[in-house]
Amino acid sequence: MAVFKCEKCGETKEGRCKPKKCAACGETGVMVKQEEAKSSGCGCSCTSK
Ligand SMILES: [Zn+2]
Repeated sequence: MAVFKCEKCGETKEGRCKPKKCAACGETGVMVKQEEAKSSGCGCSCTSK
């Protein structure tokens, strides 16, 4: 699952596909994919898994 964030208002939305527009402000073309949440694992940013 990827997380997409609105560059305009900061709204975030989870989904498999990139949203066409922001559900909060209605702006189109502002949804950008965010990196996976860093909360998983030990939280020390290691990638050995
Ligand atoms: Zn927005």
